[in-house]
Amino acid sequence: MKTSEIRKKFLDFFASKGHQVVPSSSLIPGNDPTLMFTVAGMVQFKDVFLGFEKRDYTRATTSQKCLRAGGKHNDLENVGYTARHHTFFEMLGNFSFGDYFKRDAITFAWEFLTGEQWLALPKDKLMVTVYATDDEAYDIWHNTVGVPADKIVRIGDNKGAPYASDNFWTMGDTGPCGPCTEIFFDHGPSVAGGPPGSPDEDGDRFMEIWNNVFMQFNRDDAGTLHPLPKPSVDTGMGLERLSTVLQHVKSNYETDALACLVRAAARETGVEYSQDVPSLKVIADHIRACSFMVADGILPSNEGRGYVLRRIARRAIRHGYKLGQKGLFFHKIVADLVAEMGEAYPDLREKQAHIEDALRAEEIKFAETLEIGMGLVDSALEGGKTALDGDTIFKLYDTFGFPVDLTADICRERGIHADLEGFERAMEAQRERGRAGSNFKMSGKIAYNGDDTRFHGYDKSSVDAKILALYKGTEP
Ligand code: ATP
Ligand code: MG
Ligand code: MG
Ligand code: MG
Repeated sequence: MKTSEIRKKFLDFFASKGHQVVPSSSLIPGNDPTLMFTVAGMVQFKDVFLGFEKRDYTRATTSQKCLRAGGKHNDLENVGYTARHHTFFEMLGNFSFGDYFKRDAITFAWEFLTGEQWLALPKDKLMVTVYATDDEAYDIWHNTVGVPADKIVRIGDNKGAPYASDNFWTMGDTGPCGPCTEIFFDHGPSVAGGPPGSPDEDGDRFMEIWNNVFMQFNRDDAGTLHPLPKPSVDTGMGLERLSTVLQHVKSNYETDALACLVRAAARETGVEYSQDVPSLKVIADHIRACSFMVADGILPSNEGRGYVLRRIARRAIRHGYKLGQKGLFFHKIVADLVAEMGEAYPDLREKQAHIEDALRAEEIKFAETLEIGMGLVDSALEGGKTALDGDTIFKLYDTFGFPVDLTADICRERGIHADLEGFERAMEAQRERGRAGSNFKMSGKIAYNGDDTRFHGYDKSSVDAKILALYKGTEP
C-alpha cells in the first residue's frame, strides 16, 4: 500500500466514524507564543481542548505536517541514527473534543489497525503500553479488545530514569496533556532493541506507531496540572512509520515516500544508492524539512525559526560535502520531493521555484566557508586529538557559519568529544568584548550578540542550549 493510499485510508476510516476531515495547518503554529513549530496534530486544536474555542464538530481527523527540530520535541539528533525519526513528518490523528474517551479511542485504533477491510495487521506483532496507574485503559485493552497480558506494558512518568519511557504526553512546557496508551509494532528479532519499558527500548525493533493521549489536564507555567473542562482524546500516528509496516520494510527510509529521496540524494552527490549510507538518509530527511519550512514562509536567517532552517540546511549541505559533493546539489532534490508529495501538498508544487531559490542561495552562502571550516576542523584534530576545542568550535560558528550542532554532528561521526563548555566560554568572552567596545560597528560576519540562536518569547530553552544539554546529558 502506497503512502498516499495509507493517508487516505486513515482519513476515510475516521470520517466513517463521524469525524470531520480537517486540513493540515502550517508548520508555524497560528497564534501560539509557546511553540516554535507544529510538533503534533493537536497543535491546531489546542484552544479547542482548553475550552477557549468552539468548533461545529466534536470529532476531527487530520494528516498534519510536523517538525521536531527544536524545543521540547527535537529529533534532529536522531536523524541518520534511527530508522524511524525524521525532522519533518506527517502525523495522522483523530481527536475527540469532549466527545468520546478511552473506550472508543482504543477500539477505533484497534479496528483500523487490525480490521480486515482496513489495515489487517497481524495482531501478534502489536504491543501496547498504558500509563502505570491507568487500570481503565488496561481493562479495555485486555478484556474488551482481547490483547494478552504479556503484550500490555504499564509505564509511568519515568523522568530521570536511565531510559526514555514516559507515558504522559505534553505538548510543551505548558498546555494540554495527559496519560497515554501507545501501540508498538514488533519488527522481530532480526532488528536490535527491546520492548517498551526495557533498558534497550530505544532500538528499532519495537517501533512506536500510534500514541493515544487521554487529554485530561492543562499544565500551567508553574507545572501544576488543572483538569480540562471536558476529557478529550488526541492521537498521533506517524504516517512514515505506518508505511514501513505496510510495505514490509524495516526503516522509514526504505518506504516509497523516502526511498525516492535517498535515491535523489545519491544521484546529486554522485554516490551509489544505498540504505547503508547515513548521509544520504540525512539529506533525504532534511530536504523535506527545509522545503516545507520555506513553503510555510520561513527563510534561512540567524534567529528563531530561520536559524533552525539554516541549521538543518547546512547540516544537509555538509553531509553532501562529506560524500564528496563540493558543488551545489541540495536544491536540485526539491523537484524529486515535489514529484513525490506535490499532489498531497499542492502549495509545495506552486512554490517549487521559490523553495529552490531559497535553498540555492543558502548553499552558495555556506559554500564560501564550508571548505575552509572543514580544513580548520582537520587541522585542529591533527595528531590524533580526541576532542575538538571550544575556541575552534567558536571560530567555526562565528567566522565560518557552522552552527554548533553541525560541528557536534561532525564530532559525533568521528567519535571525538566536542568541547561545548569551552565554546560557551569563548562565546562569553566575545560578548564581554562586544560590551566593552560597543561603540564600534560589527563587521559583516555572523556576529554572536547573545541572542541570535534564541527565539524571543517562544521556546524557554534556546536551541543551542538544548544541544549543549544533550552533550551534558541534562535537560536545560
Ligand atoms: P518515539 O518514542 O519513537 O520518539 P514519540 O513518543 O516521541 O515517538 P509522539 O510524541 O507520541 O512520538 O508522537 C506520535 C507519533 O508520531 C508516534 O507514535 C510516531 O508514530 C510519530 N512520530 C513521532 N516522532 C516522530 C519522528 N521524529 N519522525 C517520524 N514519526 C514520528
Ligand atoms: Mg520521540
Ligand atoms: Mg515514545
Ligand atoms: Mg509517544
